[in-house]
Amino acid sequence: MTSLYKMPVSNLSGIGAKRAALFNKLGIMSVGDLLNFYPRTYEDWSTVEKIENLEYGGIYCIRAVLGAPIIDARISGGRIISKGSVYDSTGSLQIVFFNNRYISQMLKGGEEYFFYGRITSDSFGMQMVAPTFSPVSDGMKIHPVYKQTAGLVNKTISNAVKQALKLLPQKINDPLPENVRNAFGLCPLRQAINDIHFPSTREKLEIARKRLVIEELVVLNLGMRNLKRHSRGISNIKIRDDYSQEFQTLLPFSLTGAQKRAVNDCISDIINKNVPMNRLVQGDVGSGKTAVAASVCYTVLKNGFQAAFMAPTEILARQHYKTFSELFENTDIKVGLLTGSLKESEKKQIRQELADGTISMVVGTHALITDKTEFKNLGIVVTDEQHRFGVAQRAKLIAKGENPHLLVMSATPIPRTLGLIIFGDLDISVIDELPPSRKPVKTVFRSAIQRRGVYEFISSEVKAGRQAYIVCPLVEESELEDVAAAEEYAAELMLKEFPDIPVGLVHGQMKSEEKEKVMQKFVANEYSVLVATTVIEVGVDVPNASVIVIENAERFGLSQLHQLRGRVGRGSFQSYCILISDKAGQTTRQRIEIMCKTNDGFKIADEDLKMRGPGDFFGERQHGLPQMAIADFADIKSLELSQKIADYILFAYKDICCDELRLLKAEIDRLFERGGQNSLN
Ligand code: ADP
Ligand code: MG
Repeated sequence: MTSLYKMPVSNLSGIGAKRAALFNKLGIMSVGDLLNFYPRTYEDWSTVEKIENLEYGGIYCIRAVLGAPIIDARISGGRIISKGSVYDSTGSLQIVFFNNRYISQMLKGGEEYFFYGRITSDSFGMQMVAPTFSPVSDGMKIHPVYKQTAGLVNKTISNAVKQALKLLPQKINDPLPENVRNAFGLCPLRQAINDIHFPSTREKLEIARKRLVIEELVVLNLGMRNLKRHSRGISNIKIRDDYSQEFQTLLPFSLTGAQKRAVNDCISDIINKNVPMNRLVQGDVGSGKTAVAASVCYTVLKNGFQAAFMAPTEILARQHYKTFSELFENTDIKVGLLTGSLKESEKKQIRQELADGTISMVVGTHALITDKTEFKNLGIVVTDEQHRFGVAQRAKLIAKGENPHLLVMSATPIPRTLGLIIFGDLDISVIDELPPSRKPVKTVFRSAIQRRGVYEFISSEVKAGRQAYIVCPLVEESELEDVAAAEEYAAELMLKEFPDIPVGLVHGQMKSEEKEKVMQKFVANEYSVLVATTVIEVGVDVPNASVIVIENAERFGLSQLHQLRGRVGRGSFQSYCILISDKAGQTTRQRIEIMCKTNDGFKIADEDLKMRGPGDFFGERQHGLPQMAIADFADIKSLELSQKIADYILFAYKDICCDELRLLKAEIDRLFERGGQNSLN
């Protein structure tokens, strides 16, 4: 198998440079990659239907003879339409293909084939448009369907896979040792690879799938544990004194019990320890994670080391910068900001001051992890909203220092089993208490026709001195029409609904300075109402805001709604979340009901996972884990089994670097290399 990863796909017959480029587009470089390119789904051809039983709209497999050769005809726009008639003992129907010049050569008159496709009709009666087919002699019952790309059809991919399988010896070395496979009822790799592409029965497909899913999750599990082990090298950062009491005097409030516990966990991780801290602080939106991070940074800074704080967005970085600057105003700590939107000269200046130690605390975005940034003596790395960063990015920032302490913060409550894997390399503190005098946000649902009432309510809150967010999911980060729509929406609000109220607009297409200007005005209460797209989703903190209206609430997932709701209820005022939707579908209603019923982020995360699966749950690749080829994070049963197997392997072999696990270790490296590249792009 290893050698097949080195063999380019162009080595297969029928794949020239042009086709190879298309395969590359699908991420398939080598023959080995091709074998790991698992079907997206399957067509089940095991039940063959008689033509007389076919119904319109249904998808069927028929066994029929092509009466006469296919006839090609040119139609408008230079397109080709190819038609033929097929029959079995009970009837006949038309098969139709578009723009496939080769079809008349591929299908021969008088021969018998299986055809698979949906039944539609035209004025001549029943037809199958662009069915898949194979000669009866082929005997295949379950057909793989691969992800395709323009110019590369399923048949070509499937033929290439067939060739690749022939190159794979019958006996191959298996990353999962035999005793492990036997103990957990998993089939050998060779069988799994064959059957995931060309299973002869559904049962065999399931056996193959299980084996591959479990292997992938075991690899992930072990990889995450390995990260933990590695990051626990010796650290030369000597933190001798605890300054968390002194830090309290800088704060305008006292920390909650849960915050204090989190700070203490961190302090005991770092004081007089020679292994670096590796801790996740998990707390619902508004639980006060920033103050915890600030306290820990303060102790590190006062011991003479630098601190780096990485935020996922420009807005958030600027906000944290402001918080830290104010907090440390009367101390000897100099705080700097380093983000992508700064001028080159400004960046250079900051980097200079980081390298020579003038700046001791830096807040920033990804700009922090570029090669240009160097530190004098980095003592701690903090990442905010951890789920937005990849494992690899975290590692990259850590590499800026000599094994610095690491504190990651996340508001995304993650179901336990998944959390164990995602944060498998971290110790965890949970902030399970909100600051005092917080009132739970009241959540209500309104349909679009009740919008007028919602605006009146906003006006009355603004009169009382409060502020409001209105979130519309219109602006896709890249779509100009949507920008226009959002601008129009904001303009209309200003003119018609709130003529006397200052309204600001912020969306994903704006330059960060523009965004920042608008945000600052909202923070300063110069805007009473902020029309926003989801750019406000994470972290933004304006305690005076008491209303958040979410338009088209059906377009958001539960966890996203919860994050958005977390923008209000951050001060002592009673706050409100108003969900507006015109869609009255079952899932929309269910989601909105859950939101109205509970403020508990963990409950919502669980429901979200149940309803949508973690792919959607995290948004696109927001969990920071490597891309999975076949495993699905919603599959809790497999997650649990893989956890067990990983335990078993570590118990039986002690060390994943031992010779028996050589291949498994190679798979771990491969997975994390892939993940690293993905998450850094
Ligand atoms: P998150 O956990 O969502 O990052 P923040 O750290 O932004 O929350 O804190 C939310 C708000 O609560 C901020 O305005 C912060 O100043 C305030 N806050 C944090 N801790 C306390 C506390 N112990 N008492 C009162 N207010 C607090
Ligand atoms: Mg935060």
